Amino acid sequence: MIKLHDLYFKPFISEKEIDTVVQRMVDEVANDIKDDIPVFVGVLNGSFMFVSDFVKKYPRPCEVTFIKLASYEGVKSTEDIERLIGLTQDLTGRTVVILEDIIDTGNTLEEIHRIFKNEKVKELKIATLFHKSEAYKKDFKLHYIGIDVPKKFIVGYGLDYDGLGRDLPEVYQLKTTQHMTNFVLFGPPGAGKGTQA
Ligand code: 5GP
Ligand code: MG
Ligand code: MG
Repeated sequence: MIKLHDLYFKPFISEKEIDTVVQRMVDEVANDIKDDIPVFVGVLNGSFMFVSDFVKKYPRPCEVTFIKLASYEGVKSTEDIERLIGLTQDLTGRTVVILEDIIDTGNTLEEIHRIFKNEKVKELKIATLFHKSEAYKKDFKLHYIGIDVPKKFIVGYGLDYDGLGRDLPEVYQLKTTQHMTNFVLFGPPGAGKGTQA
């Protein structure tokens, strides 16, 4: 068990399990994109570790770039996503794969689709390491999903709780007791309130 700020987290997904899942996702993507040099677009901050491991495993030449979004979902989920760093290169005609750490409600993904609406990419695919399918409320297709996780707050492998935990090589789940049900449903106070994706 670990403590970050005021909260306790228990081991949930091991480094080895993550490695296996990332390799499986790389195989799926590489199998689908045989003739193009893809551009992998990581969504900062949460995706940095996933992107790093993903591209190291990718068997052919690829390009890597990042966008940076901040979500303001807090207790009341809104669609207010701030663009901190947008696309910095022309992706016309390119095969683009978004690499996300986690897709929860899908609000952030909706903003990503808005960003790409006017880009004349050849193809836009979405890959997410973690997915909270119970919480997902959009219709956007997710092409590659690593692990479907329950609607509980997790940290590690890029994901933070109020700035802490991104550096952990494995994933931890918020340890809750009966009276902490609200944490399970809505996440810790402040988490997601202006926090960076
Ligand atoms: P969505 O916009 O899909 O609701 O949520 C996307 C963002 O919410 C993620 O990029 C991440 O920043 C945050 N998020 C959602 N679930 C979790 C979680 O369990 N742990 C952490 N640390 N962040 C989460
Ligand atoms: Mg993210
Ligand atoms: Mg965050």
